[in-house]
Amino acid sequence: SVSKHGSQSRRFSVSSRHMTIMPAWVIDKYGNNEVLRFTKNASFPVINYPNEVIVKVFAAGLNPLDVSMRGGYGAATMSAKRDPLNIKQSGNEFPLILGRDVSGVIMECGLDVKYFRERDEVWAAIPPWKQGSLAEFVLLSANEVSHKPKSLSHMEAAAIPYVATTAWSALVNTGGLSKDNCAKKRILILGGSGGVGTFAIQMLKAWGAHVTVTCSQNAEQFLRGLGADHVVDYTAGPVEEPLSALEKFDLILDNVGGDTESLALNLLKPWSGAKYVTLVTPFLQNTDRLGIADGMTKTAATVGCKVIKHLVKGVHYRWGFFAPSGPALDEIREMVDAGQIRPVVEETFSFSQVPQAFEKVEKGHARGKTVVQIS
Ligand code: NDP
Repeated sequence: SVSKHGSQSRRFSVSSRHMTIMPAWVIDKYGNNEVLRFTKNASFPVINYPNEVIVKVFAAGLNPLDVSMRGGYGAATMSAKRDPLNIKQSGNEFPLILGRDVSGVIMECGLDVKYFRERDEVWAAIPPWKQGSLAEFVLLSANEVSHKPKSLSHMEAAAIPYVATTAWSALVNTGGLSKDNCAKKRILILGGSGGVGTFAIQMLKAWGAHVTVTCSQNAEQFLRGLGADHVVDYTAGPVEEPLSALEKFDLILDNVGGDTESLALNLLKPWSGAKYVTLVTPFLQNTDRLGIADGMTKTAATVGCKVIKHLVKGVHYRWGFFAPSGPALDEIREMVDAGQIRPVVEETFSFSQVPQAFEKVEKGHARGKTVVQIS
């Protein structure tokens, strides 16, 4: 073992057990960008379960969820997940660390961890109820982690996990798509130019699907460059008309929500197993507003009604959710290293510029991902 007076790199290479604090961006209450606070004294993560790993963060990706969570979105649900028996006082989540994507190296492994070793280069999407990646270290379960693609830098790798595991969960687990059943399928992505869209286009094209997207006019060339076969400009007028003129779709992934829901139903091939999967759901708003029990009841009632309403017309209505998954990231790594999917990094920030990175994401109009270099 190494003494605590050893160099930074020697200490890192052996064990975290001497460390108790680390640099991080935290929030101590919910609010606007001013609640973000840099500290050198955030608690160092501790392995509590034998399947956990500590990852030294090299790069962190931001998502619209980070901006929403900074403002308190999902707070009720996340607290219930962190503290199911409600033993602790409310507000115990603070200081809260945001950041859902990580690329870095394994620093320490729990006793049952077999698939990873110290110093392995890894990437992961961090569940929203866990402390995030805007910190020097992050604690994860080994099943949430995957070896990072060799062909990518850490900054590039951090652009992928959260949107990729969300797209995977929505398209594969909920939508029933796979690399073996996509050929000839017609897929519509509502909102192609953001993080989820730019990833989903590439994955579906790699699997042989025909991909139509909606986006702003100024994103058209960009999305054609990622492989989109047909592009509909939503800024030119209502998309219903141009989309209705097209052959009907086997699956629609909705990254936009709102009015799109009712028009999308009529764009699916009826009575053929076609599905509409939306990522824009009221699930967390319901639980924030009504509490867990009533919020869940309301959510179940809403989604139940919609499923039935659409089923009688011969199409499937589904809600899609992010799901952490190391195994999904393993498959995505193969596609990345095979050159089928590339990271789409729109803008990068240094660790000292985290508030600016949040401002960038909050402005919207993303064209891919925003990534922060941590170390
Ligand atoms: P981004 O902010 O990266 O991208 C959103 C994109 O949509 C932007 O490129 C924006 O560009 C474009 N856009 C906005 N309005 C429209 C419109 N009417 N038609 C077509 N495109 C439009 O978001 P993400 O890709 O990360 O996420 C997409 C959505 O999915 C978000 O609402 C997010 O909250 C949700 N999500 C849900 C998850 C879940 O678990 N349910 C998980 C992950 C994401 P422009 O405005 O310039 O057109």
